[in-house]
Amino acid sequence: MRLLAPLLLLIAMTACTHAPSRNPMARWVPSSNHNERQAILIVLHATEQDSVQESLLTLRTRNSGGRVSAHYLVGRGGELYQLVADERRAWHAGGGRWGTITDVNSASIGIELDNNGEDPFPPVQIATLLRLLDELCTRLDIPRTQIIAHADMAPTRKRDPSRLFPWKQLAEAGFGRWPDVVPSEAPAGFDALQALRVLGYPMDDPGAAIRAFHRHFRGIDSEADVLDAEDARILFSLTRPVR
Ligand SMILES: [Zn+2]
Repeated sequence: MRLLAPLLLLIAMTACTHAPSRNPMARWVPSSNHNERQAILIVLHATEQDSVQESLLTLRTRNSGGRVSAHYLVGRGGELYQLVADERRAWHAGGGRWGTITDVNSASIGIELDNNGEDPFPPVQIATLLRLLDELCTRLDIPRTQIIAHADMAPTRKRDPSRLFPWKQLAEAGFGRWPDVVPSEAPAGFDALQALRVLGYPMDDPGAAIRAFHRHFRGIDSEADVLDAEDARILFSLTRPVR
């Protein structure tokens, strides 16, 4: 009996930690009309490291640059690891925003691709990513257009997953946004910078947003700080209402 009492206390305490959180100020009148809070965005990263083993260590320990994680890691050979449950908030995005989403970690799934930031992405790795995106968008009901680069939401700090990431191939498989094959001329008075903002880019530093846009939609690391006519055509195609 002397042993039983602490044991019962321990069981009670454990049960307590799993009880639904209820505000003692209010009378609890439960409704069954609810579900788990859901991700509405997927952020793609490149690890910018040399191996899956190195990245698994970084994403699972108190590494020197601070604690980071992601929900998934896709190896160069197409192997797929999950590190954080979908319904939990992984620490992959950091500061930045996309459109009206200001706490990206709370609203997103983070996927790391094993890539050193310079090499092309092997087809087998992209094949696994496409299968994962299909599964996540279907099961979690995430809009298929809502797939962005880490650099898109944090253009002043980040460059990943690099200019070599195959966004066009993703778009052909139905993921993310991509302009028409031959984008038509933007109409006179079209405000391309405003279109960049409408697309979701943070505009605190317009030059950084333009360079992130170039990396994503033109596959170039530019040093531009103004948008040109080709950018305007692409942005017009991306933001005009669907006919
Ligand atoms: Zn990243």
